[in-house]
Amino acid sequence: MHDYPDTLLLIDGRWKPSASGRTLPVFNPATAKPIGNVAWADTDDLDQALEAAVRGFEIWSRTSAFDRAKLMRRAADILRSRADEIATWMTLEQGKPLEQSRLETLAGADIIDWFAGEAQRTYGQVIPGRATNVIQMTLKLPVGPVAAFTPWNFPINQVVRKLSAALAAGCSIIVKAAEETPASPAGLIGAFVDAGIPAGVVNLVYGVPAEISEYLIPHPAIRKISFTGSTAVGKQLAALAGLNMKRATMELGGHAPVIVSEDADVDQAAKTMVAAKFRNAGQICVAPTRFLVHEDVAERFTQRFTEGTQAIRVGNGLDADVEMGPLANDRRIPALEAMITDATARGARLATGGRRIGNEGWFFEPTVLADVPTDARIMNDEPFGPVAIINRFTSLDDAIREANRLPYGLAAFGFTRSSATADRLGNEVVAGMMSINHYGLALPEIPFGGTRDSGYGTEGGSEALDAYLDTRLVTRKG
Ligand code: NAD
Repeated sequence: MHDYPDTLLLIDGRWKPSASGRTLPVFNPATAKPIGNVAWADTDDLDQALEAAVRGFEIWSRTSAFDRAKLMRRAADILRSRADEIATWMTLEQGKPLEQSRLETLAGADIIDWFAGEAQRTYGQVIPGRATNVIQMTLKLPVGPVAAFTPWNFPINQVVRKLSAALAAGCSIIVKAAEETPASPAGLIGAFVDAGIPAGVVNLVYGVPAEISEYLIPHPAIRKISFTGSTAVGKQLAALAGLNMKRATMELGGHAPVIVSEDADVDQAAKTMVAAKFRNAGQICVAPTRFLVHEDVAERFTQRFTEGTQAIRVGNGLDADVEMGPLANDRRIPALEAMITDATARGARLATGGRRIGNEGWFFEPTVLADVPTDARIMNDEPFGPVAIINRFTSLDDAIREANRLPYGLAAFGFTRSSATADRLGNEVVAGMMSINHYGLALPEIPFGGTRDSGYGTEGGSEALDAYLDTRLVTRKG
């Protein structure tokens, strides 16, 4: 039996239950049994969090970048020292294998460290004046209190990118993390509290997502929002942000194409992509989904990929050697079943998997569908689960056209030994991120974000801080 804590709200530097005392239950996806509760904020709590964030901003925006970075690095070290405990909470609430939870927690500490470094590199400019006695310069200033909304698939990673960028820039923040997976993000934020972050700079709430976003986004105290989740919700929140003239970063859905050309190392491509597809049970916005494989190598690729898929050990993420845990919530099971039934009814071939596993917990078989017609729902809607689609192409033009057919533009992958093909993939596939011959995404120092219906803004790389900064011109004569 592992301990799993109840999760409180963090408002103005204090952990507390909601004003109403209401809570929501938290379930273990491996057993479908309740394991704890999370406090459910209503408007009284949100008002307190907003007031605290305004006070926190006054303090934090005047704290030097040097001191902000020092405190962030201290929080990163505390997080590392607690990685085992926090990872256990994450596996209990989210389902992913314990080692993946541990790596996510440790990677969170690295992200904090990286952004701490960036805090000290928020340079303005000096722009040559038209007269010798005119000085023109730009200052980079924190935009103000931030509201961040994060999902359940990477409970720490999704929070830590927004939190670290906001803090590095000098902003305060109210995080609304996912109600399904509340304890591990609270563990992350606890590291900042214990590192000595001033009261009000970081606040954490849970509750009814739509009620909280509809209250926080238009509120005059909030100057910037960041959301990760589905495209449908992202469009609503972006519209609300637009109506209220709030800056926004939107990290939304994807339907990543993978182009495997005839000159690729097919075995290496299959091995790399099996690991990428089924990590976190496929519940990843950048998960490879539509495999477009040249007809000359399609049979070999499908065989290798299917063998790799069948070898995946599925089970409770706490058990040693498990490679794929359950789905994080029960609503994905009927969603996946409906998409698979629709695809096979339209003529797709089920190469492996396709069903729920057992009747305890929310487990689903790693699944491969082949020769899926374009009008099947799964070719158009994000499956967000452990299902790969393998289709064939004859000419690279056709493959690129299919890759770009959907309105998404988040991640894309390619496998080829030809630099001419690699150049075409990099230039012609519409995506925020193109990874060729490996899985090279999601490091703190490289951009992470999409285009078109996948959203806008980056949560990694040197541009990530810009989203939290205003540019002010100061021009002076004499
Ligand atoms: P959903 O759209 O209901 O919720 C996605 C996330 O957004 C959840 O964390 C939820 O709490 C939050 N959310 C929902 N409505 C909100 C609102 N009005 N205001 C603020 N937050 C809100 O979908 P779901 O069933 O939880 O997840 C499945 C879908 O979500 C997938 O198809 C996928 O597209 C998307 N998703 C994307 C990511 C990602 O990393 N981009 C992560 C999780 C889910």
